[in-house]
Amino acid sequence: MTGDSATIPKVIVEVLLPLALDGAYSYGVPDGMALAPGDYVRVPLGPRQITGVAWAIGGTAPQGTRLRNVTVRYEVPAMPELHRRFIDWLAAYYVEPPGQVLRMCLRAPGAFQEPRHKLAYRATGTEPDRMTPQRRRVLEAASQGPAMQARDLAEVAGVGTSVVRGLADQGALEAVALPAFQPFAKPDPMADRVALSPDQEAASARLRSAVSARKFSVHLLDGVTGSGKTEVYFEAMASALAAGRQVLLLLPEIALTGQFLARVEQRFGVPPAEWHSDVRPRERERVWRAVANGAAKIIVGARSSLFLPWHQLGLIVVDEEHEPAFKQDDGTRYHARDMAVVYASLGGFPAVLASATPSLESLVNVDRGRYGYLTLKSRHGRAQLPEIDLIDLRANTPASGQWLSEPLTEAITETLKTGDQALLFLNRRGYAPLTLCRTCGHRLECPNCSTWLVEHRFRRQLMCHHCGHQDQVPDACPYCKAEGSLVPCGPGVERLAEEALQRFPDARMTILSSDLQRGQMLRDTLANVASGKYNLIIGTQLVAKGHHFPGLTLAGVIDADLALETSDPRAGERTWQLMAQVAGRAGRGDRPGRALVQTFMPEHALMQALKDGDRTAFLNHEKQIRQAAGLPPYGRLAGLIISGKDPGETESFTKFLARRAPVANNVHVLGPAPAPLHMVRGRHRWRFLVKCDRDVDIQSFMRSWLAGVKTRGSLRLAVDIDPYSFM
Ligand code: ADP
Ligand code: ZN
Repeated sequence: MTGDSATIPKVIVEVLLPLALDGAYSYGVPDGMALAPGDYVRVPLGPRQITGVAWAIGGTAPQGTRLRNVTVRYEVPAMPELHRRFIDWLAAYYVEPPGQVLRMCLRAPGAFQEPRHKLAYRATGTEPDRMTPQRRRVLEAASQGPAMQARDLAEVAGVGTSVVRGLADQGALEAVALPAFQPFAKPDPMADRVALSPDQEAASARLRSAVSARKFSVHLLDGVTGSGKTEVYFEAMASALAAGRQVLLLLPEIALTGQFLARVEQRFGVPPAEWHSDVRPRERERVWRAVANGAAKIIVGARSSLFLPWHQLGLIVVDEEHEPAFKQDDGTRYHARDMAVVYASLGGFPAVLASATPSLESLVNVDRGRYGYLTLKSRHGRAQLPEIDLIDLRANTPASGQWLSEPLTEAITETLKTGDQALLFLNRRGYAPLTLCRTCGHRLECPNCSTWLVEHRFRRQLMCHHCGHQDQVPDACPYCKAEGSLVPCGPGVERLAEEALQRFPDARMTILSSDLQRGQMLRDTLANVASGKYNLIIGTQLVAKGHHFPGLTLAGVIDADLALETSDPRAGERTWQLMAQVAGRAGRGDRPGRALVQTFMPEHALMQALKDGDRTAFLNHEKQIRQAAGLPPYGRLAGLIISGKDPGETESFTKFLARRAPVANNVHVLGPAPAPLHMVRGRHRWRFLVKCDRDVDIQSFMRSWLAGVKTRGSLRLAVDIDPYSFM
């Protein structure tokens, strides 16, 4: 039944479409189609057909109403009510059209079509009319073992596929449909348990009882790197699995290494389902279907796994919960850790947040009694936490154009001599962050963004890290035309690697940087680092994630001051976390590790706390600053970002918004001001920052501000609730 419009009264369905629309759209339900809320449907929209979800069913349209009909109801399990509530909740919280959120739930193209079955062949026992040696070999192969696809059968028998098809035509082989997708094997909660330490056992007992309580709770699992947190939350996962529930383990994308997945497989006896940006379309389809029908039990994934069609989710674990990478800053801006907690609260099940350097947000939630607190104080077994020493760069200044101080160089030499691995951390991609003309002082800037171009010497290019613009390094200064006058300023990992190679020519060095290695290649390199193939690792923040490199005993931080030099309210916290995480890569095996931190301000409270390993001192300092300034987690923030191609139009639209800002005596609107990155991809950017107390409904404020505001032409408006970026 595909009639476009009908004249008799018909049932109406409200369908949410994956588009930035204000709400769901009404359609008619054709005769004979049974629809329930949550059903995935195909509907006409203008000249197109698109996939959406039945959000509500009800009412009949009066006679004569022109309503287009639903075209198809897909044969996939309906989206559960909980998942729909989650979408609505998230959309309301982030002041985002629900359709935009739904869009993130439909990222498995193909999952709505009939699965494409593969054909396999097995012998029927019927003889072909004429037997040849080739045919005999095929029939022999086909009568042993499971049915095989034509290609495989032909290969085993050493014949062409035409021989197989000929036998099928004659009835000597019969085709059977193979399942379209490899099924997910059932995990065994008890497959490979380790004996837990008393600390671990105590923490795990509390998590297990939180799981069996089957109600909402959040626990922060706080333990130094290598303290065995993973083994503890594995126990919680095992309990949820034993109760027949699905488990989601959320990790920052980059921590999803082969090494980690192998560890999950080892523990539960089967490979988990994976969900992240490198998963290929066919595998996405397989995972999506298996999550929807409940067959996939353990899903290890990046933030977008929250939007899988969960069927019976019983636990979410967020590892490295402090990671800013859980905040998505394009498209729908949401924080996956926070939304994991929301999902758990809507669904009435526990969430576990794990970290060696928990976020201030989570720690304050513990202080407020909202989260349970579990701690592992020491590293597992003999592993010791590394000693952290500061190197004062004022007293140990490297020569011009060099970045390794004498004490750090000596420590690396020692480490390599003993056969151990050393890690050098510098959070800057490329060769040099700035290229400058010695003659006139001109700086090479991106034509589309208000940023410097970063030299990437390995690729022989200048690149913009914001828009991807690429250029050759010019011979002459584009401004004063002086020849050979352009010089790189400051270090990136490539330049640091150049220096390290000169000083340690025999080292087996690798650079870990997201622009040089990604996906499988990166995973391979990480595995090679873990196995000891490399002994000198130079890396960006890629290396500060939960990797386990047993042979690594020295971590050197090239410039600890880098992240502090921003206006980001979380700069101190972020620096602390990075330093602690980088240092924590050292000494995870049998031998103790040490960390050396180069800084120009060793007297800074943060550096001192780092050296003393005194987290409490640092946190108290940080809490005071935030509290005094009314910053999160003591106050609320929301960003409003305006951008447009035309500078004048963008500015006047911004001024128009400024005039419309509602007046509320407990809400402060800061700005408008040109954004620190005032141009990106040729778009001019302005910002407002809204600040208020924690008990203020900042969403209502934003909604009333923007109600009825329309953007025209190239103008764009983005609301950023709980922003993590202020650029
Ligand atoms: P974290 O998650 O806190 O960084 P891990 O769980 O990765 O720590 O543990 C660090 C190392 O110690 C890993 O190699 C892990 O296999 C090992 N380990 C942790 N707990 C135990 C245990 N109870 N028995 C044996 N090995 C353990
Ligand atoms: Zn650019």
